[in-house]
Amino acid sequence: MINLEVPGKLGVLVSQARQSAAEIFRPNSRKYDQAEHTYPVELDVLAALIDGLNASGAGGAGASGVRRDKDGDKTKIRNGANLATVLGTIEMCWGDVGLLLSMPRQGLGNAAIASVANDEQLQRFAGKWAAMAITEPDCGSDSAAIRTTAVLDGEDYVLNGEKIYVTSGERADAVVVWATLDRARGRAAIKSFVVEKGTPGFELVRLEHKLGIRASDTAHFRLENVRVPKANLLGDPEINVERGFAGVMQTFDNTRPLVAAMAVGVAKAALEETARLLSEAGIEIDYDRVGPRAPAVVSTYLALEADYEAAYLLTLEAAWMADNSRPNSLQASMAKAKAGRSATEIALRCVELAGSLGYSENSLLEKWARDAKILDIFEGTQQIQQLIVARRLLGKSSAELK
Ligand SMILES: Cc1cc2nc3c(=O)[nH]c(=O)nc-3n(C[C@H](O)[C@H](O)[C@H](O)COP(=O)(O)OP(=O)(O)OC[C@H]3O[C@@H](n4cnc5c(N)ncnc54)[C@H](O)[C@@H]3O)c2cc1C
Repeated sequence: MINLEVPGKLGVLVSQARQSAAEIFRPNSRKYDQAEHTYPVELDVLAALIDGLNASGAGGAGASGVRRDKDGDKTKIRNGANLATVLGTIEMCWGDVGLLLSMPRQGLGNAAIASVANDEQLQRFAGKWAAMAITEPDCGSDSAAIRTTAVLDGEDYVLNGEKIYVTSGERADAVVVWATLDRARGRAAIKSFVVEKGTPGFELVRLEHKLGIRASDTAHFRLENVRVPKANLLGDPEINVERGFAGVMQTFDNTRPLVAAMAVGVAKAALEETARLLSEAGIEIDYDRVGPRAPAVVSTYLALEADYEAAYLLTLEAAWMADNSRPNSLQASMAKAKAGRSATEIALRCVELAGSLGYSENSLLEKWARDAKILDIFEGTQQIQQLIVARRLLGKSSAELK
């Protein structure tokens, strides 16, 4: 049975993540919010530490810790890499979500590789920092509409197209690019390819200026006759119409709980800071005096905290199911929808509760309100997660419910 207490064995990881977030992320938060597109060099030491943890087999540190044990014994309950990664991510994003997104070798492309790569690919791409490129100028939510093409030519695939809004695109060593083998055959023909930086024809067009997560670089690429070895296709190269989108979508089941965890981390930061500021102003959050007997500001705070708790528990559930080899698409989307929406609302309401201080750069609340919104957009927007949840609950296909 599922038990959502934090397992004792993960306590050390959680407290180490919290310490790193407090000592490395928080003190640099404002600096890299203001110095957009500057690489945060302070992250190098921490990244080396996480590499060490992953290499030692401790697992669960960063995106590369995300992995499904397909042959696992389903009768045994396990608290594994996904739960550990989610718990670590919450703490790191309590520190700073933009800086976590900038962590070397912990890109969403790394999570894709960890989720679907075969053993040879896992070995070959070990140590590489990988971004993920799905979105195109004419395709966002509807990822089945991808126009970037991949054509087999001898031992290589030749890729052509355009990719926009690629997180860590400029800094990463490689980008996992989604492309179609045959547009006429729909979703089943969409595959992901690891494109290494420096490959001829893979050109950086520009970096975006953004509302939030300004520490994280967001890149636009053009692909013109980019040749990648056949062996860089992740997953099954066959177009299997029966399986449809399943191969590439499997990545989302692992990465959506991670984005939900990021949102939970930002919400936690905003709530803690607000409680501290309220306390300084002489208003304590008193759990023994709730409902009509509590001041309005405390009632509002408690409602936000309840939302936070629901998002947190859904996120743990989605990760726990992945660790235990149970299908979790529904729970991953529920967690992402709830956490993305709650973090956005919580951070903005906290700005309000803190008054003028909340809106000023003297506190990080205004930054968190800007940072939170993206967590309700990328890896599938709020509306798309709700659509997926509705399809799963009603047993409808994507063609039946759009
Ligand atoms: C900072 C940032 C970083 C990003 N990083 C990455 C990355 O690393 N890799 C990557 O591939 N992409 C990335 N993205 C892109 C992101 O995933 C897309 O922006 C997102 O999927 C939405 O696509 P879109 O912007 O084209 O909006 P659209 O799909 O055009 O949607 C516009 C609006 O319509 C709504 N909508 C769309 N379809 C429906 C429907 N059927 N029912 C109801 N409402 C609907 C959407 O929810 C949204 O509110 C990033 C974006 C940003 C801003």
